[in-house]
Amino acid sequence: MDPMQKNPSQEESSNFIQTFIEQDIAENGRFAGQRVHTRFPPEPNGYLHIGHAKAICVDFGMAEKFNGLCNLRMDDTNPTKEDTEYVDAIKEDIAWLGFSWDDRFYYASDYFPKMYELAVGLIRKGLAYVCELTPEQMRENRGDLTHPAKSPYRDRPVEESLDLFARMKAGEFPDGAMTLRAKIDLNSGNFNMRDPVIYRINHMAHHRTGTTWCIYPMYDFAHPIEDALEGVTHSLCTLEFEDHRPLYDWVIAHVDLPAKPRQIEFARLGINNTVMSKRKLRRLVEEGFVKGWDDPRMPTLCGLRRRGFTPASIRNFCERIGVSKVNSTVEYGFLEHCLREDLNANARRTMAVLHPLKLVLTNYPEGQHETFAVENNPERPEDGMRQVTFSRELWIEREDFLEEPVKGYRRLFPGNEVRLKTAYIVRCTGCEKDENGVVTTVYATYDPETRGGDTPDGRKVRGTIHWVDASSCVDAEVRLYDSLFTVAEPDQEEDFLSVLNPNSLEVLQGCKVEPDLCTMQKPASFQFMRQGYFCFDLDSTPEHLVFNRSVSLKDSFNTKKKG
Ligand code: ATP
Ligand code: MG
Repeated sequence: MDPMQKNPSQEESSNFIQTFIEQDIAENGRFAGQRVHTRFPPEPNGYLHIGHAKAICVDFGMAEKFNGLCNLRMDDTNPTKEDTEYVDAIKEDIAWLGFSWDDRFYYASDYFPKMYELAVGLIRKGLAYVCELTPEQMRENRGDLTHPAKSPYRDRPVEESLDLFARMKAGEFPDGAMTLRAKIDLNSGNFNMRDPVIYRINHMAHHRTGTTWCIYPMYDFAHPIEDALEGVTHSLCTLEFEDHRPLYDWVIAHVDLPAKPRQIEFARLGINNTVMSKRKLRRLVEEGFVKGWDDPRMPTLCGLRRRGFTPASIRNFCERIGVSKVNSTVEYGFLEHCLREDLNANARRTMAVLHPLKLVLTNYPEGQHETFAVENNPERPEDGMRQVTFSRELWIEREDFLEEPVKGYRRLFPGNEVRLKTAYIVRCTGCEKDENGVVTTVYATYDPETRGGDTPDGRKVRGTIHWVDASSCVDAEVRLYDSLFTVAEPDQEEDFLSVLNPNSLEVLQGCKVEPDLCTMQKPASFQFMRQGYFCFDLDSTPEHLVFNRSVSLKDSFNTKKKG
């Protein structure tokens, strides 16, 4: 599937989630007369990544489409690996994307008392029992396709289970000594239904409830209850939960709660040349392969933000890849394509020289200056003009001069004429080299009759290069990024760290940029003409400018698609 081939109306009609919701809220539908209500339930154990952005766009986006509500819920039922640090970061990222949960911010852990009560209710109904099989024994007794699972504790009296469950809660037993299991079907072809564990003992402090609890509900029991308690109508989640849906529905059908939310699954987003599992991302951070969760090479939302991605580009990306029932991998180039589109329309143009080489115009009077008015963004005339100064000494890109030109080279070489963007046409007269043969200065003469870049006699000048005035420019550090991994599918490797790209970051010092960049506010994105799109890095100060390359100008996605 080529996401670029889709037009908006096709996207609308191919969105099966939307179709289900429409049916559900229609007359006679399952949620007739109700307001659509979704939720986004991150586990606060890491930073959000671009995959989460897709889920956020689906959860919040569906609610928006139907003028409904979307809750933000910290899915913190697992005490082992949560951290308050992540909660604020998650909120910041979602708000940055432009979604709002108003006052509907919840913690799943707030429902622990209610969940306990509902579990007791299941025991009373004969629908749950305390099982004393150890995790290992349980594995041995889970059966296979032709043999049912077994538990000698299945038919223990309700009173006994009630007593044991209360004592599990009171902390009388060590971790793993017993569990509470739903009494469903030991014969089920779906192993999730073979009397799944719904509570386990874990003597570990929880980041919010401390040591109040030493038993914790399992996801499959907790999640439908959380949804029902919050009045969620549509619980949208990723495909790996499809096989858990019968259990979701079973819990909803048997606990004493009035709401009956519906789970709908959609495909996870994968992107090539990166990893998205939180465990792997954490290793990259903790083992120092990147500078932090917000390293611009990371697929985290804070990393992408620091890289210069805009909320609009990410939302547009998520909209255009659509939702489907088949897991697939999207090219990183398509994400870049969406950013490029946004920045092409909105980023201010400027000239910057990344690998500076001095150009001296020998016939331009020393000490003289002039200024040129340059459009800030040809795509948006309303962004106005800026003044760019020009004088005898300029900086040009090192690659824009060749002492001995290769075939087809149209930039500066001795004897050749080029246009200095918006300024003058100049003719190269020679160069100077150091003792190693490295060119240190290029010499040229300018043609005063060509101010603005036009030739009065109509002679053809094919090359145009950018430049920066050496007398007024400022220095900047520029960070260039490449893929973090050298292969398309690092997850397929035995050790994903073995395919890290050693050249994913290149730092350039002493780049030359227009001086007005010192006065700009962060965050801002720029098109460095002929180079790509760049933004201020968090490290940037007016005294030491630092830029990140967000994306190059060349659209690899387009190129690839055209073949
Ligand atoms: P990981 O396995 O990387 O730790 P997770 O699924 O455990 O991710 P959660 O915090 O539980 O992370 O995710 C919150 C929500 O985001 C879930 O509903 C999950 O389905 C969804 N989500 C996570 N990763 C992706 C992805 N790559 N594409 C789409 N949705 C995702
Ligand atoms: Mg999860």
